[in-house]
Amino acid sequence: MAEDIRHDWTRAEIRALFQLPFGELIFRAQSLHRRYFDAREVQISTLLSIKTGGCPEDCAYCPQSARYDTGVRAERLMPLNAVLDEARAAKEAGASRFCMGAAWREPKDRDLDSVCAMVEEVKALGLETCATLGMLTQNQAQRLKRAGLDFYNHNLDTSPEFYGEIISTRSYQERLDTLGHVRAAGIAVCCGGIVGMGEAEEDRAGLIATLATLDPHPESVPINALVRVAGTPLGEVAAIDPLDFVRTIAVARIAMPRSVVRLSAGREEMSDEAQALCFLAGANSIFYGPKLLTTPNPEAEHDRALMTRLGLRPMAV
Ligand code: SF4
Repeated sequence: MAEDIRHDWTRAEIRALFQLPFGELIFRAQSLHRRYFDAREVQISTLLSIKTGGCPEDCAYCPQSARYDTGVRAERLMPLNAVLDEARAAKEAGASRFCMGAAWREPKDRDLDSVCAMVEEVKALGLETCATLGMLTQNQAQRLKRAGLDFYNHNLDTSPEFYGEIISTRSYQERLDTLGHVRAAGIAVCCGGIVGMGEAEEDRAGLIATLATLDPHPESVPINALVRVAGTPLGEVAAIDPLDFVRTIAVARIAMPRSVVRLSAGREEMSDEAQALCFLAGANSIFYGPKLLTTPNPEAEHDRALMTRLGLRPMAV
């Protein structure tokens, strides 16, 4: 089994996986999935936007950037009690992990005081904690670790070459540096990307190759399908072929067999059948709840029904 876990993947090897016949690709992904996970279990996370909008960054897909007119209003950081109410509701709905997202370039130290308090209290409810707050210094990562943070999400978004088409206000290297700080602090890494932004298959291969050569691999790998929001530069981009999305999930599963691969944003526009193929390709985590930050997410009710139809059950913490 040790040979399944590799950190020396080349771009050519990842590209070759993308080019496998679909059935062969899914078979390989499914075989590895079963070797490392119970294929009937899906980890459920809930994501709450604790500080919405007004972000100074220019991520071309993001309705929360202050640079784009998307109708998202800039709000202040939510108070602790309101966050705890949402965390309790998430737990009752079956979530095992509660992710808190803030639209910042990076947190100011006083904001971090508030987030650390949230992490402590959410953890005390018996939930795993995750945060996504932008770039972190080493010191900030250590503070979050001391507060009890289990996971930190910071995505690479796409390949190093395509990245400049999507974001100009922070570099790929800065993202890798934050991931290094999170890892060094002993927090589990949640890191993935977005497909359907007009990138080529080569860029999807570049994203997976970068993730799969991190050592260790991110514990959690969210693969998002772009949610096209009017007013953002990517609002009109052509939708990705669902089978290409499934391929990306399968390649991520093969390249990082022990990581939890999360079917993230974009499920609202995906058919139940496409989602079923994603689970077959090795996705084993979803976000639950009516909203993913500011974009719609399938109602928890519909998700529960789909999981029942597929014979899937929530993964225990
Ligand atoms: S993705 Fe994050 S950093 Fe980029 S604009 Fe949106 S909130 Fe800001």
